Amino acid sequence: MNNQKNLWLEIPSHVFVTLARRGMDRISLDQCFLVDCDNNNKSLLETIKIKEYNEKYHHIKIIYMKCNKCNRNFQLKIDRLNYATKQNDKKENNISIGLVYARDNYGNNLGHVGYF
Ligand SMILES: [Zn+2]
Repeated sequence: MNNQKNLWLEIPSHVFVTLARRGMDRISLDQCFLVDCDNNNKSLLETIKIKEYNEKYHHIKIIYMKCNKCNRNFQLKIDRLNYATKQNDKKENNISIGLVYARDNYGNNLGHVGYF
C-alpha cells in the first residue's frame, strides 16, 4: 500500500534569484544541489519524506531528497514567513515570503537557493 502523498506538490517548481542590477532569474528546483553533481533531470530525483514545523512566524518544511545520479541525499528547506503588519492602525497587510535553502544529508546549509 502506498499512502505517501506526492511530495513534489510541496516543492515550488521554481524560485527566483536576484541578479543585482540585472533583475531576477528563475531557477528550477528539479535539480541536485550537491557539490560535483549536475543532475537537473527530475526523473533522477526522488522525494523521500517531509518534516514540517512552525517557528514563530515561520512555517518550515524540510523535504528529504535522493539523487539517483550521484546516489546521495540532500534536503530542501522551504521556509515560509507569514506575518501581518499594521500601518497607522488602518489596515493590515499580510506579508508572505518563501525562502528555499539547500542542505546536505546532515542538515548543513549549502546555501540560499532563492525565494518564491
Ligand atoms: Zn546528485
